[in-house]
Amino acid sequence: MNNNVEKVIVLGGGTSGWLSAAMLASSFIKTGRDIQVELIESENIPNIGVGEGTFPTILSTLHEIGLSEKEFLTECDASFKQGAEFRNWLYDPAQKQHAYYHPFDPPAKPNGLDISSYWLKRFKDEPQGRSFSHGVTVQSHLCDKNLAPKTTQTPEYNWLAKYAYHLDAGKLGQLLRKHATEKLGVKHTFADIEKAELDSDGFIDYLIAEDGQHHSADFFVDCSGFAALLIDKALKVPFLDKSKYLAVDTAVTMQVQYDSQNQAIPTHTISTAQEAGWIWDISLQTRRGCGYVYSSKHTDKARAEIVFKKYLGLAEDADVKLRHISFTSGYRQKSWAKNCVAVGFASGFVEPLEATAIAMVEAGIRSLAARFPCNRAAMAIREVQYNEIFTSRWNNIIDFIKLHYCLTKRTDSEFWIEQTNPDSIPETLLQKLEAWRHYAVSEGDFPNKYDIFGVASWQYIIYGLEYYPDYVECGMAPEDVVTKSLASIQSMASSAPNSLMSNRQTIKAYKM
Ligand SMILES: Cc1cc2nc3c(=O)[nH]c(=O)nc-3n(C[C@H](O)[C@H](O)[C@H](O)COP(=O)(O)OP(=O)(O)OC[C@H]3O[C@@H](n4cnc5c(N)ncnc54)[C@H](O)[C@@H]3O)c2cc1C
Repeated sequence: MNNNVEKVIVLGGGTSGWLSAAMLASSFIKTGRDIQVELIESENIPNIGVGEGTFPTILSTLHEIGLSEKEFLTECDASFKQGAEFRNWLYDPAQKQHAYYHPFDPPAKPNGLDISSYWLKRFKDEPQGRSFSHGVTVQSHLCDKNLAPKTTQTPEYNWLAKYAYHLDAGKLGQLLRKHATEKLGVKHTFADIEKAELDSDGFIDYLIAEDGQHHSADFFVDCSGFAALLIDKALKVPFLDKSKYLAVDTAVTMQVQYDSQNQAIPTHTISTAQEAGWIWDISLQTRRGCGYVYSSKHTDKARAEIVFKKYLGLAEDADVKLRHISFTSGYRQKSWAKNCVAVGFASGFVEPLEATAIAMVEAGIRSLAARFPCNRAAMAIREVQYNEIFTSRWNNIIDFIKLHYCLTKRTDSEFWIEQTNPDSIPETLLQKLEAWRHYAVSEGDFPNKYDIFGVASWQYIIYGLEYYPDYVECGMAPEDVVTKSLASIQSMASSAPNSLMSNRQTIKAYKM
């Protein structure tokens, strides 16, 4: 039997399916591999499609598959995103208002100095009224002022400040579908798949559709969403439930129209803590996308709707179109099994905070393409490598997301009280927190180069939540050089409006 890989079926036409098909097809074209990609999706099972926040990796993904940034911005109602702001995560807002940023740019290095350690050394014992991220990067100031991360002269997919996008997930799916089928040779088939048939080695042989048709391939990518038709139903890979650590499990969402089409477009996701979870607020070109993600153990649907409507400035009885979505936080024990890789919901989902899901799809397909097996014999070793990387990635994400919750000082609801219970915190995170009680977060704490969140992201959250170490090791820079270096961030922030336009103006100019 010829076991060379000549055909791949991607099952599912949601964001993960179309992104996977486009990325794989483009990689096969670039590497000169004659492998056909077919995407099969049901016309009867809708996508979830709510993912509207992305990660900076999306720039290279879109560039690699050959989409122009102008076309993408125009077709997907997209805007520039430079990070996230967290409001009221540390204190009960009735007592004290608090907010901090997680910008995409790492701390600056003025005069070659590691500015974050000098900032900590100077201010950790009297940080009142200061914000770590505003002290070490200009980007938080750009977010305050709704300034774009680039000028209209900056080439496509390049930046002055690192960015990702806020986008309309439905429109992204349509654009990817058009691009993948018209430019990248992806075959598109509608079929309702009932099940997968395995061969005597336990590999997927073919898919059986409701009309009895068989769809065969040598390799399968399971993008069938929460149904996880291949990785779960056929290959029986267990799902590891992590809701013990991450309590939110339900979202109520709504699209909100702007009062005027000239309204400012914030250039970051606004994430505001609530009594039993948090609300995301994402601004696109023509509308906002908002959602309250809550723990169903700590509140109910009716109360969640009231809290959400209050945030949106709506009356409790306002008759608006709300959508409810449930999920369980966790991931597959293995995302690669035999001749199948699962991505998107089929592989796992943690929660919407920090927009990790689309980034994990990109990371998954990039890792798959980099070690795409030429035949069946090459699959077993690739499977082991891939799964090691992904187990580490999932655990890094879970620890990182939990960090946002577990340092809270809020005691105004059961939800927040439970967040600091050590039983609700992964052991790996407890160990990190213990270490960071004594010394500053450093590069050496993150040995796995494949993890999504590196040192800068952890610094922004941990110091944003005012968790400072006893001791900070710095270089020996003279005091006046440190003062000048810290001041240079503030002076660049003050002059930024001279060179950068607003998010809205820049997008408009970019599209012309
Ligand atoms: C509340 C919430 C907020 C989120 N926010 C973000 C965010 O800001 N950023 C981010 O990156 N991600 C976010 N996500 C995650 C994001 O929505 C998903 O990663 C993304 O939608 C990908 O979904 P998917 O393609 O894996 O699955 P789906 O969208 O569920 O697509 C599944 C596909 O499989 C097909 N299918 C299923 N069964 C069959 C069958 N039997 N036969 C044929 N086809 C079948 C369906 O027709 C569909 O095309 C969020 C998720 C939730 C729940």
